Order: sequence, then structure tokens, then C-alpha cells
Amino acid sequence: MGVDTYRALGTMLGTCCAIVMDDTVNMVEACRNLMRFYKHESCGQCTPCREGTGWLVDVLDNLCTGRGKPEDVDLLVNISNNMMGNTICAFADGTAMPMLGMVQKFREEFMEAAIHGLPDDVRHDDSVRSMVEGGV
Ligand code: SF4
Repeated sequence: MGVDTYRALGTMLGTCCAIVMDDTVNMVEACRNLMRFYKHESCGQCTPCREGTGWLVDVLDNLCTGRGKPEDVDLLVNISNNMMGNTICAFADGTAMPMLGMVQKFREEFMEAAIHGLPDDVRHDDSVRSMVEGGV
């Protein structure tokens, strides 16, 4: 398994790390966890990255807590597209690309969350929130 393996599957290896999730993981919740990481790590120098990472987390928070709307799914895409190529380092692109990929590949799951909220049995992984709130 390497860069070419991922390329043949129509995706990319990114930073050469892979996270394996089984099909019990809700992708909206997983995405929220990932975007919290990016928000935490943004240095804040560029407006599209500083504000964009925060907006993505806000929209995903709404989707995960039953306050979402169907149009939020396209809002995630819109925010991400406006982050791409508009900052001084590649961090914003690195945030937007997985966000766009997740919506593209799991759009039905995002729409389901927008209309009905998350299923009751979704595992909530608050490890990043704990890190941020704990000041790590
Ligand atoms: S794109 Fe890079 S430099 Fe700009 S705010 Fe994000 S992390 Fe900082």
C-alpha cells in the first residue's frame, strides 16, 4: 500500500497516514472531530483559514446536535472551496480537501444528519475537545 494505491482509488494519501474506521463510525461525527483538530491547529494568520476552520466546526456542531439544515451540507462545500488556494500556507487546503472529500463520498450521511440529527447510537469521540479544553 502506497501513494499509487490511493491514487488508483481516486483519493490521496495526504501526510502518509491512514485512519481506519469501521462502518459503525458516523462520518459526520468523525468529520467534526477532524475539523476540531484543524481549528485548533490553525495559527490564525490568514482569514480564510482562521475563520473557515471555525465556521466548519460551527456547521458540523449544528449537524451533530440536531440544529442543522439541509443547506448546511452545501455550506460546508462553499466554505471549503473559499479556503482553497487563498492562504499563505497549505494548511487551509489540507483542511478543505478532507472536508470536501467527506461530503463527496458520504453526502447521504450528511443529509441524514441535517434532517434528523445523528442516530442515537453514534459514538461521540470527544478526544480533541478534551485536548483543546484541557489546554494541551
Ligand atoms: S493557512 Fe497556514 S499560515 Fe494561514 S492561518 Fe492557516 S495555518 Fe496559519
